[in-house]
Amino acid sequence: MKNFIFGKTRNGLPIPAYRFGPAARPSVLILGGVHGDEPEGVEACLGLIHRWSEAFPFRLRVVVVPALNMDGVLRASRVNAGGVDLNRNMATNDWSAEVATPRYHPGPHANSEPETQALAQWIDSHKPVFIVSMHSWHPMLNINGNCAAEAATIAQWTGYSVKDSIGYPTPGCLGTYSGLERDIPTLTYEIKRGLKTADILGTHVRAIEEGLKVTESTRQKAL
Ligand SMILES: [Zn+2]
Repeated sequence: MKNFIFGKTRNGLPIPAYRFGPAARPSVLILGGVHGDEPEGVEACLGLIHRWSEAFPFRLRVVVVPALNMDGVLRASRVNAGGVDLNRNMATNDWSAEVATPRYHPGPHANSEPETQALAQWIDSHKPVFIVSMHSWHPMLNINGNCAAEAATIAQWTGYSVKDSIGYPTPGCLGTYSGLERDIPTLTYEIKRGLKTADILGTHVRAIEEGLKVTESTRQKAL
């Protein structure tokens, strides 16, 4: 395992990242804490880092960023320190300046926030084969792009339903940026809000590992 600084927050804090597996492998990005008031996803990422720091079981390169919105995580705030919802700030074709409510503030312009800039830069330079973004809300596996196989496996382990839309528009979101506009399959993984840490570590860390077994075996041409 190697750790590195993924980028900086609006308040100037470093965003830690953890890298597993050798270079020259297909890369996978696992994100937590895009919304700072969703600790379940941060915990799932920390559980993965803990397990993989002892033994990493894949022929993949996996980068885990447990708290992209570190400023928000530290204050249990959905938005970043600039008051922006990072999952509405990506430079997608459907990005809109319209502020539905403050909790969905898209920022003054697309890609205005340092956290979003770090994420977009990493994605565009590393071209991962799969992205998982860990959130918490109603239990759901929201797929954008071709990751139905991974989602089906995770659904078996969790009982969560797989959906290709969450039911309302989400302009400027990561699923659109990477999954729909860059052909990088993206899973927005909504853990049940309020789930206990032990259940997150016991169920969801394992489910993500099972999903990555599918990634490893099905994305052979890049291996
Ligand atoms: Zn969220």
